[in-house]
Formats: sequence, structure tokens, C-alpha cells
Amino acid sequence: MSKENYQSPISPGRSWYEDSCGERPTYAPLDGETSCDVAIIGGGFCGLSAALHLAEGGTNVVLLEAHRIGDGASGRNGGQMGSGQRADILELEEELGFQRAKALWDLAEDAKHSLLQTAYRHNFTCDFAPGQLTPVHKSKYEDDCRREVEALATRFGYDEMSYLDQQAMAEALGSGAYFGGTNDVGTGHIHPMKYLIGLASAAHHAGAQLHEQTAATAIEGSSKSGSRFRIKTKHGTISANACLLAMNGHHGDLRDELAAHVLPLQSFIGATEPLPDDTPVLPGGQAVDDSRFVVRYFRKSADNRLLFGGREAYGAATPKDIEKVIRRQITEIYPYLHDVAITHAWGGSVAITMPRMPYVRELEPGLWTAGGFSGHGVMMSNYAGRLLAEHLLDGSEQLKLLLDLKIPAFPGGKLLRHPLKVLALTWYSLLDRL
Ligand SMILES: Cc1cc2nc3c(=O)[nH]c(=O)nc-3n(C[C@H](O)[C@H](O)[C@H](O)COP(=O)(O)OP(=O)(O)OC[C@H]3O[C@@H](n4cnc5c(N)ncnc54)[C@H](O)[C@@H]3O)c2cc1C
Repeated sequence: MSKENYQSPISPGRSWYEDSCGERPTYAPLDGETSCDVAIIGGGFCGLSAALHLAEGGTNVVLLEAHRIGDGASGRNGGQMGSGQRADILELEEELGFQRAKALWDLAEDAKHSLLQTAYRHNFTCDFAPGQLTPVHKSKYEDDCRREVEALATRFGYDEMSYLDQQAMAEALGSGAYFGGTNDVGTGHIHPMKYLIGLASAAHHAGAQLHEQTAATAIEGSSKSGSRFRIKTKHGTISANACLLAMNGHHGDLRDELAAHVLPLQSFIGATEPLPDDTPVLPGGQAVDDSRFVVRYFRKSADNRLLFGGREAYGAATPKDIEKVIRRQITEIYPYLHDVAITHAWGGSVAITMPRMPYVRELEPGLWTAGGFSGHGVMMSNYAGRLLAEHLLDGSEQLKLLLDLKIPAFPGGKLLRHPLKVLALTWYSLLDRL
């Protein structure tokens, strides 16, 4: 299939990223038997970051990607880095105590810096642009924002976030559709597909063996029984001492634990035609994620398009009204864009966990997994991959923070967990409208 027509088989719609990332290098499928120290399944941010850091540490790594690198969430997301964890910092503090909440905040700060340093060190571009606004859609949330800004500055050592009142927020957004909210100058947004292409190339040059179009179909053996892992694929097998499952929302039936703890949810983005240079939309170029349960997240691209996400779906089918819903949401915020052309509409699988914190585990000796980054994986999936690599190389204290997180299985067992998820998410999404 030509580059122009290529369509991810696991994520709906052709993304604007695909049309703006330049060449997507290809990596040959696995053919035959091979062996390595660590086998990685999944070529998104998490798997590739682990591959890069393991290879740089002198480990012999083979990574399998079932389709093309970038076909999963990592090549198709909103590109927003954020700060902290997906779960609210003050709720984390209440649940885990100050020390652990602060350590998790600091871990996310390290994740942010690691993301940008990796691009810098390997000299690839990712169109980083600074700033993130979080406006609230109900005035009752304004006090929460003020409290968060205050707590971060006085107790968590983070003074890059400030509170904007309604008027200042309207000026920053170019829209009066919201109340006040926060302005975080310590983070920003990237072109995720460019980042992923650069990461894959860095891992490849560091010595990691990458294979696209190669799905792992079974994992046999285990270090528990003293044997090496044998990862089966249609045309070959890998024998490995350790194995990392980095499949996020695309885990299929490879392991029951993943199916119980990490569930897929679809999120969709639309890209407009380039807006005129004098458009009042986001004059400061920040990314935006709002306070809704079904978060509306948007930003301008380097060529001045509005990239707008906000339509979600909880079942497996792709909704037919993505463009219509996105246009309605854009127009609610920017009425003057009511007839702007939407040139691309696409989606992907955001993998969620019950507490919206990542599921990082050693499932059995030598068999690791990381996933369920719950819409906050741009920096966190990259960093989880790095921490897993560092742990396999020499042990990592920070990884323990993620391993210690309590991540319960979704209720309902194999039969009912999906219908229960749909019910619960539909209920919460309705609350946005009240
Ligand atoms: C529309 C959308 C918007 C988002 N916006 C943001 C955002 O703005 N900010 C943010 O922080 N996060 C965002 N996210 C979440 C973020 O993209 C993810 O958390 C992150 O990319 C997860 O990376 P990953 O490597 O774990 O998984 P993925 O990138 O999904 O990679 C998993 C890979 O595993 C492969 N795979 C699966 N099974 C097999 C197998 N058996 N054999 C071989 N390979 C296999 C898949 O093909 C896939 O490529 C968004 C997600 C979506 C979908």
C-alpha cells in the first residue's frame, strides 16, 4: 500500500500526523529463530523507550510490533505532555500521603525532562511548543484550581503553574467559553509521530533489533521453570531471558492479567485546515485540556491548524459522527470557526485503569508489563519504558513507586467488565452536561 493510502489496521482514520511526519522508515518482519536478552512486545513509546535504554546499556534487545510503529496510541494522540500524574495530585496525597504523592510528582517531572532530553540527545525534532492551559467549564471548580496552584508552589516545589481568572483565561484561549483555570508554563506539547519515528531510529542505531508486521501470538516457557521465554510469531520465534509486554490498549488475549486491569476506550481528534495567521485562537500557542470528565483537549499545530479532541466511544465500533461531534465542540468554544474545514478525523485506543494510574508489574519472574497510562502516556509511557530498562540493567528505585501502586482489576470478570465499563463511563460523561 502506498504511503498516501496507508491506514492503521488497529486505529480508525488517517491522522494529520501521518501526513506531516515526513518519511516513516520501515523495519523488516521477523523471519526465523532468534535469541536475545530482552524481548519487547509493542512498538509504541513504552516499548521503544525501553528498547533504546536497554540497547544503550549494552543489552541485546528484539522488539516486535504487530503492525507499523505509530499505529497504536503513541503515533496518534493529542501530544500534550501535562505535569504530574493523570490522577489529581491532591487526591493522590489524600490517598497515599504526602511523601509518596510528592515522589510521584517528581517522577513525572523527571519523565518530562527525559522526554525532551532524549530528543535533544538523539538530535530528532518533535515540534515541541511550551505551555498548557486547563480552563474549567463550571465555576465551582475554580477554587480547586486555586488550591492546586497554591499546594504545588508551597509544598510540592512546583511554581510553574499560576491561576488565571476568567478574563485572563478568555484572552489566552481566544474564547470566553470557560471560567478561570490554570496556566502551566513548565510543560508543553509535541508532534507524537515525529517523536516516535525519532525514538525508533535512536533505538535501532543503538543496536535494538526492531521488527514491524510481526505479532507475538504466544509466550511460552518461563524463568520460573528455569527455561527461557519463547515468543512465538507467525514466521519465527524469539528466545529471551526476559520479556516486556508494552501493548497498552491493544493487548488482545495474550495475557489475562492485562485484560483484567487495562481496558481500551476510544478517543477521537479532528484537524482543521490551517487557520489564518491573525486568528484569535490560542495566541500564546499553549495546549489546552479542560475540566470535563470527557476531556476536550486542543492545540494549534506548527502549521496553525486546530487539533481538537473530545469525542469518546466506549464500545469497539467506530462512531460515524466523529467529524460532526468535533465540529460542534469546536463551535461551542470558537463560534467563528463554524464552517472551518476539518481535513482529518482519527482516533485511537486510550488504555485506562480503575484508578487512572499506570499498571506496571512483574507478572512472573522475568515477564514485565507496563500499560494503562490513561490518557497521560506521552511522557509517562516513555518514562515507564526507560525505568523498566534501567531496572533490568541495575535496579531502579523510581520503578518501585509505580510497582507499588494499587491497581485493582475492573469488576465484572471476563463477561461483564466491558458492559460495566460502558455503563460507568456513560454515566460520568452525562454529568459533564449537568
Ligand atoms: C486519541 C488519543 C489522544 C491521546 N492524547 C494524549 C495526550 O494528549 N497526552 C497524553 O499524555 N496521552 C495521550 N494519549 C495516551 C497516549 O497516547 C498513550 O498513553 C501512550 O501512547 C501509550 O503508549 P504505549 O507504548 O503504552 O502504547 P501504544 O502506543 O498503543 O503501543 C502499543 C503497541 O503494541 C502493539 N501490539 C499489540 N499487541 C501486539 C502483539 N501481540 N505483538 C506485537 N505488537 C503488539 C500495537 O500494535 C501498538 O503499536 C492519547 C491517546 C489517544 C488514543
